[in-house]
Amino acid sequence: MLRKWRCVICGDEIIEGQRFTVLRDGFVHLECLFEKLVKEGRLSQDIAALMDAVEVLNYLIVRIKEAKRLASSREVIDMLEAVRIDAEKHAAQISSLLERMAGLGGERG
Ligand SMILES: [Zn+2]
Repeated sequence: MLRKWRCVICGDEIIEGQRFTVLRDGFVHLECLFEKLVKEGRLSQDIAALMDAVEVLNYLIVRIKEAKRLASSREVIDMLEAVRIDAEKHAAQISSLLERMAGLGGERG
C-alpha cells in the first residue's frame, strides 16, 4: 500500500514517479525546492550537486524496493535490503547537508 505525502512547499500530493526528497520539515518536490532556492537566490553549484545526488539516491531506493519484490531467495533479499539501508542513510546525510548549505528548515534561528 502506498502512503501519501504532501509537498511542504506547494501543498500538492507527491505522486509516485515524481522527483522528491525529504527535508526536516517534510517531503518536497525537487522542482518546488529548486524553484524556491532560485527565487530566494540561494541556489549554488554545491546545492545543485547535492540535489542531483539525492534525486539519484531516491530513484535508486525506489528501484531497489521494486527489485526486492521480485526476489525470492533470502540471499538476494538480504543483499537488496542492505543496499536500500545504505542508500537511505546516504540520502538522509545528503538531505541534511543540503538543508544546512541552503539555510533551510532552521528558521527558528
Ligand atoms: Zn511541491
